[in-house]
Order: sequence, then C-alpha cells, then structure tokens
Amino acid sequence: MIFENSFAFAKQLDEQDALNHFRDKFYIPIINGNECIYFTGNSLGLQPKTTQDYVLNELEDWASFGVEGHFHARQPWFSYHEMFPQLLTKIVGALPEEIVVMNQLTVNLHLLMASFYQPTKERYKIICEAKAFPSDQYAFETQAKFHGLDPGRVIIEVAPRDGEPVIRTEDILSTIKQHADETAVVIFSGVNYYNGQVFDMDAITKAAHEAGAYCGFDLAHAAGNIELHLHDWDVDFACWCSYKYLNSGPGGVAGAFIHQRHITNTALPRLAGWWGHDKETRFKMEKGFNPIATAEGWQLSNAPILSMAAHKASLDNFEEAGIENLIAKGKMLSDYLFFIIEEINAGSAEKKITIITPKENKGCQVSMLMLEKGKEVFDTLKQNGVLADWREPNVIRVAPVPLYNTFEDIWKFGEIVKLILNKD
Ligand SMILES: *Cc1c(COP(=O)(O)O)cnc(C)c1O
Repeated sequence: MIFENSFAFAKQLDEQDALNHFRDKFYIPIINGNECIYFTGNSLGLQPKTTQDYVLNELEDWASFGVEGHFHARQPWFSYHEMFPQLLTKIVGALPEEIVVMNQLTVNLHLLMASFYQPTKERYKIICEAKAFPSDQYAFETQAKFHGLDPGRVIIEVAPRDGEPVIRTEDILSTIKQHADETAVVIFSGVNYYNGQVFDMDAITKAAHEAGAYCGFDLAHAAGNIELHLHDWDVDFACWCSYKYLNSGPGGVAGAFIHQRHITNTALPRLAGWWGHDKETRFKMEKGFNPIATAEGWQLSNAPILSMAAHKASLDNFEEAGIENLIAKGKMLSDYLFFIIEEINAGSAEKKITIITPKENKGCQVSMLMLEKGKEVFDTLKQNGVLADWREPNVIRVAPVPLYNTFEDIWKFGEIVKLILNKD
C-alpha cells in the first residue's frame, strides 16, 4: 500500500478498518482531560470493559458458595483453567493438549527449564540472545548455578555484529552449529523486547534439533502480536505472559507450551504439585505423582481464578476479533509508523531517528534510536497525551496495537515528534 502523511489519509484508513470498533471495548487512560494515545500495549495492555464483570462474577460466586464454588460456581473453579487451551490454540499455534495457563512467566520459564535443561558433562550450554530481557538472563544464570555450573561457561550469547542493530539469523544458526556437541538447550525470545526483532523460530528450532539440543522460546512480546506455529515448528517448549499484548491485567496469569511429543514422557524430569496430578485421583491425596497426560501435568497449584477471569475476558475479545485479522492490522499499523518516522527523517536536513527494528521482521513494536533530543521528545509526547516507553540510553519504544490503536494515533504522534525535532 502507498501511504500518505496526512490526517485525511490516516482517517480514511481508520474508516476502512473492520476492527476499528474494538477500541470502544477498552478503557483508554485519560491524560490532561483527554483520552491518551496509548503506545505501551507491549508493556501493559489496556483493560477491556468486560473485565470487571468477569472478575466480579467470581467474587460473587465466592461470596455465594465459599468452598463449594470449586464445583458450583457458574464456571466451576476446579476446571476453570480448562477453558484456555482452546482459546489460545490459534494465538500460539498449538494443539489444546500442548497448552496450559498457570503461574507467571518467569516461574514457567524455570519450570520448563527444570524439564528441558538437564546439563551433562558433555552437554551443558544454553544458547540465547545477547541482552535478553533481564528476568530471562537471571533465570539462565541461576539455572546454571543450580546445577553447580559456572554461568560464564554455560551461557553462550549471540549478539548483533558491530554497528548492526539486529542479530542475524545466520549468526544464530552458525553459533548453534559451532557449539553443537555441548549445547543442552537453545532459548530465544520470539520478539526481542528492546528492538522488536522477530526471530526465525522455525530455523532456530531446526538448528537446535540438528545439534541434538532442545529448543524453547519466551513469547512475552510475541503472544497476541505475531503469527506463531509452535506445534508445526516443532518447538519443544515455550512460555508467555498475558499482560502485554494479551491485555489480561498487571501480573496476570501466564501460559506454557510443551510439545505433544513430550507431554506424556514421564521420563522428563519435572517439579510437580497436586494440580498436575491425575484429576480422577487428585483428591485421594495419596503418595505417588501421576501426571495428567497433557501440558496440564506441569501445573503446580490450584488456579488463580481472579486473574484467570481477567484473562478470559480478554481472550474472548481476541476470539471475536480473530487473531489473523489482528496480526494483519498490527502489521499495517507498524508499517504506517515506519513510514511516518521515515517522513520525519526525510523532512529535515539531517537524520534525526534511526529505527532499530527490522522492517520485515517485526510485530507491532517499532523502536526509535533518537539521535538528538531523545528525552525531550519523550517528555513532550507525554505532555501531549502520548504514552510511549523510554529505554536507556536513548531509545523510544512505540507499539501501536490493533485492538485499540488507530492510524490517526500514529499520524498525530508523527506531528508532535516532527514539531519538537524541527524546533531549533
Ligand atoms: C515482560 C517479560 C518478562 C517479565 O517476566 P514476569 O515473570 O512476567 O515478571 C520476562 N521475560 C521477557 C522476555 C519479557 O518480555
């Protein structure tokens, strides 16, 4: 599509957008008396207007039934989590039995590593991206230490080449090959949180398997954002949070994927709890862990219903909108944002912004490296009711999301940034 940098054009794209009405299903935060332009859905997605009712229903059922709510609530708590795999199959590209909603993201990463990171004398390395999200870095570091190993020997990071903003796929694949005999597991994010780069999960998984290693992904910035085919790519395990693109509330319940070929493998080590135990015999409270033969077998605790109610409210919106439609619109929004930023550069004597997000391998997020006035641009955006995200030393992350952002939002953003940069 040929884009134009005008209010009328942006407005026209919004009018043609079949998902435009979904914006009304969200609470948009107010800044200075007006609805803000919210570009931080990659950090904390906005609240659907239905969420309060969903949560309130569970509070009411708790009030009405007490413990009996486990079986007599409108959605009995005993099986509440069983609603989620079906709602997530298309979002993560997996079979229902491969998905479980439980815990929180970093907890799930550790639980999955307990199963899939089993270092031996020969195979002990973890290959990952340089500058992974800190929680993941700490998880890798402490997993190594937990097994009595030196993280410096265990963790192999793949970095961008000097002067390049993104990691080349060929460098990831050659690093895996180079360490093939010593690698236990390869773990990347699906979308890097800083520069928004989408990794080639299919190719990375194949390379890991050729090396004889397991392969897993942290999909915090990928779930609900980009196309995922975890089952078909043959990924061994994955985890994600629900509060970023999935709009399920601060600290919301997270998800995990374990490939079909592993879910009944009782030889895989795991850290167990009673909620992963066979449902028929769970309440016999007997010795001997007998895991459920699906990803549910990795559950530890009984389900956090209030947080799950918020997750359900949000996933019902995704179901109604259709993930394919959302991904298509998200791509168009970020393409338009790219265009608007390039227009700003083209309109001034020298380049003001370097986009560090790869144009072809991105989801909703576009990261701008500010060559001048970074903090001033960020602060002025905020004063003008635009919420973006600042990352040291001088990167502004902007994530227009398809459920509630508009093309007009992006055009307005461009006008404000242009004004600040071109003022002497
Ligand atoms: C957001 C994010 C986290 C946050 O972890 P929590 O356990 O949800 O606090 C971890 N890893 C990545 C890659 C993230 O983007």
